[in-house]
Amino acid sequence: MSLKLTQYAAIGSKKSLSSEKHVLIVLGEKTEKHLPFVNVLEIKLKRSKKEFKDLVKSPMTVELPNGGLASFVILAEKLNVFQKHTLLRKAVKPLLDEQPEALAICVFGSEAERENNACAAYYVATVNAAELPSRKKENKSKPLKAINIYGYEATHDYGYVNARVAGNTLCRSLTMLPPNELTPTIYRDKVKKLAAEHGWTWEEFDMPALKKMGAGAFYAVGQGSEPMDAAIVHLTYKPKKAKKHIALVGKGICFDTGGHNLKPAKYMQGMHEDMNGSAVALGVLTAATLQQLPVKLDCWLAIAQNHIGPLAYKQNDVVIALNGMTIEIVHTDAEGRMVLADTLTLASRQRPDAILDYATLTGSMAVAVTDRMSGVIANKPELACKAVGAGATAGERIVAFPYEEDMDGDLDSDIADIKQCTLEGGGDHMHAARFMGKFIENDVAWLHTDLSSSNRKGGLGAVQSDVNGFGVGFGLEMIKSLIGT
Ligand SMILES: [Zn+2]
Repeated sequence: MSLKLTQYAAIGSKKSLSSEKHVLIVLGEKTEKHLPFVNVLEIKLKRSKKEFKDLVKSPMTVELPNGGLASFVILAEKLNVFQKHTLLRKAVKPLLDEQPEALAICVFGSEAERENNACAAYYVATVNAAELPSRKKENKSKPLKAINIYGYEATHDYGYVNARVAGNTLCRSLTMLPPNELTPTIYRDKVKKLAAEHGWTWEEFDMPALKKMGAGAFYAVGQGSEPMDAAIVHLTYKPKKAKKHIALVGKGICFDTGGHNLKPAKYMQGMHEDMNGSAVALGVLTAATLQQLPVKLDCWLAIAQNHIGPLAYKQNDVVIALNGMTIEIVHTDAEGRMVLADTLTLASRQRPDAILDYATLTGSMAVAVTDRMSGVIANKPELACKAVGAGATAGERIVAFPYEEDMDGDLDSDIADIKQCTLEGGGDHMHAARFMGKFIENDVAWLHTDLSSSNRKGGLGAVQSDVNGFGVGFGLEMIKSLIGT
């Protein structure tokens, strides 16, 4: 998406906005005296039996005398970032639905309000204007070409926001692709091209290499597919000046049938999105690269499919992981923790300052926190606290869960070092974290994000599409918080 940005320091007026056809008017707490189009707004408020102050709760869209459309919204200072993003998304939707070539954003209020709201509105507008994959012949979307901001002239060009949007859009685009268009072979090829584009170092561990290394946990999942095109892909972003070294890890199951413990149709629907964690990791890496963050990032993508077949792993199999631990297979649908186990071992062997992993891992996380937010579990409590703060800053809500040693008892196996999961249910998101924690070496600090909110009907926070790229903004803030910028 190439957008032309024009910024005007002067507050938008009826005159300066006369040629604009799609206008987003973002107000601060105080009532404005010279609000453009206020008469049209008042008529509609009256007709809807609403008052001006109701714009704090829900935006209002009105037809303009010039044939255009304007949405009004008040962003109260007490609202958090998630709430502000949500209101802005609702305000901008009717405008973007008309697929305009240009969008005007008018901010009012104090200087701080105008600065913050211009940035938030720019993010919400551009992330929702981004082009996404569609296989429909009709409704080819027309891209937004220009954004005109009235009322605040920043000294920057919103490049850092564009970077976040690029990361989020990459994440959503990959996640939305149908599974026949994103097999591990195709995915790996795309990642290789991205690496060349962004200057990342690229290496792959394919199935023969993983077998030779003894990565039996990952291999157990990959062996069920024909062709055996699963792989762990390793990318590195290394700027000249790096304050810290952080590893990103992502679950990339391109399709999850559940394996021999086959999912019923209702639960298999949408399972091409089970690679979302790897797409989040790639989105964070892309955005951090574009923002030129001073941090070395290693990105590890566990790319595979979970299939049935004569070679597929099954219940009661015992496999040997890369770190030498033996794992008793209990449920073939718990493949995510299997592919991540060996990937986490590889990531931790480089002794990064922290590992951040992303995975659509358990149903129990969605039961616990719904699809409105996602949960994290860390092997160091301070990391989980940072995560909750980073989520709040990004407008992506994060809930921290405990990482308690006594839960290990539930994973005791009679024949192997550990059971993959339990069949009893309850707290599987915490059991999964206890399981994966066993494969981290060198006591590396590790934060696991279980992406229960990767897809929410009608969108979430800033993003209108069901697949919403949750985690990219949070991941960026998390890295910034770890490197102290
Ligand atoms: Zn599964």
